[in-house]
Amino acid sequence: MSADPVTIARDLLRCPSVTPAEGGALTFLEKTLKAVGFTVHRMTFNEPGTDAVENFYARIGTTAPNLVFAGHTDVVPPGDEKAWKHSPFSAEISGEELYGRGAVDMKGGIACAVAAVLDYLDANAGKPKGSISFLITGDEEGVAVNGTPKLLKWVAEHGEKLDHCILAEPSNQEALGDTIKVGRRGSLNGHLIVTGTQGHVAYPHRADNPIRGLVMLVEALQSEPLDHGSAQFAPSHLEFTSVDVGNKTVNLIPGEARGRFNIRFNDNHTLESLKKLIEQRAKKAAGGKIKFSFHWEPSNAGVFLTQQGPLTELVAKAIAEVTGRKPELSTTGGTSDARFITAYCPVVEFGLVGQTMHQVNERVPLTDLHALTVIYRKIIDRYFAG
Ligand SMILES: [Zn+2]
Repeated sequence: MSADPVTIARDLLRCPSVTPAEGGALTFLEKTLKAVGFTVHRMTFNEPGTDAVENFYARIGTTAPNLVFAGHTDVVPPGDEKAWKHSPFSAEISGEELYGRGAVDMKGGIACAVAAVLDYLDANAGKPKGSISFLITGDEEGVAVNGTPKLLKWVAEHGEKLDHCILAEPSNQEALGDTIKVGRRGSLNGHLIVTGTQGHVAYPHRADNPIRGLVMLVEALQSEPLDHGSAQFAPSHLEFTSVDVGNKTVNLIPGEARGRFNIRFNDNHTLESLKKLIEQRAKKAAGGKIKFSFHWEPSNAGVFLTQQGPLTELVAKAIAEVTGRKPELSTTGGTSDARFITAYCPVVEFGLVGQTMHQVNERVPLTDLHALTVIYRKIIDRYFAG
C-alpha cells in the first residue's frame, strides 16, 4: 500500500460522498486499512426522519494506549460544477495544488493520517506499540445524528477504550501550523413566543399587541452580556435571527409574535444553565406585563474544551519541528464532532488550512499534504515513545 498522502487523497476525492452518500470513500479506507492489518467495523445508523448513514471504526493493536484519528468522509455539495476550474470529483492536480470537494474539509486530512500510519507501521514491523484507531463518520456535514455520537456509543458498548484523539478537521487559518483547535463554543437555538390579544387597530385598547412585548424582550435579551468570556473563550453571544408575526392584514393587531435566536456559548454555561439564565432575564424584563414562553430546539452542541497538557504539547511540538510555527491554541469557529468525542477522551483538532473549505475550487497545496503527514508521523512516534 502506498504511504503517499497525495495518492490516497486523490482516491478519496474521486468518491462522490456528498452527505449522506458513502460514495465509495469508506470502502476505499476499509480496503487500505485491512491490507495492513486493521480490524474494520462498518456500521449503518438510522433514525426515523433522517437519512441512514454509514460509519466506520478500525483498529490495529489490542493494547493501550489507543491513539485515535477521527474525521468525516462526507462532503458538502459542490455547488455549480461549471464554476469549478477542475471538476469537483476528478481530483485534478494543477499548479502544485490538488483540487476537489473535500480537499481540505477533510479528505486531505484523513489521507495524511492514513499515510502517516502506514509509514509508521512499515517502520515498526507492522505493529504499533499500543493501538491506533480510525473513527470515521459519513454524517458530519449533515444533521450529525447518525454519525459520531452513535459511533462513539457503539465503540464504548463494544469495550473499546479511546485514550487520545486527533480530529483532522482543517484547523489552520492562513498557514499549516498556525492553529490547533482545543475547544469550540456550544450552540443553542431558541424561539421566544409572545402572546397578546388579537384585535382591530382602530380599537387598540381592546387588544394587546404582542409585537410591543416581543420588541422589549428582544432588546432586553440582546443588550445584557451573557458573560465576559473565560480563560479560554471569548464572551458568549446571543443573536436574534428572525422575527415573525405572519400577519397579512393591515388593520389587525396580531395575537402572537415570535422571535428566533441562536446563542454561541462558552464554558461559563451548560445547555441547561443557559436556558435558565435566559428565561430568568426574560421574566425580569417582562415584569409580569408580557405573556411569553420559550421553545428550545434540541441541541447536541455543548461546549468542548481540552485543557493544555500532554496532548496539546505533543501536537504543538511536532508542528513547530515541521513548520517552524508556534500554533495558537484556539477555541473559535463553529461546532465540530470534537464536541462528542470530548466525552470519551481528550481531543484536539489539527488538520489542513481551512481557507477554501466549502468553496468552489476547494484545493490543497501538495506541500501541505506532505508536511501534515510528517507532523502526524512525528505525533505517532512520540505518542508511543512517551
Ligand atoms: Zn469538516
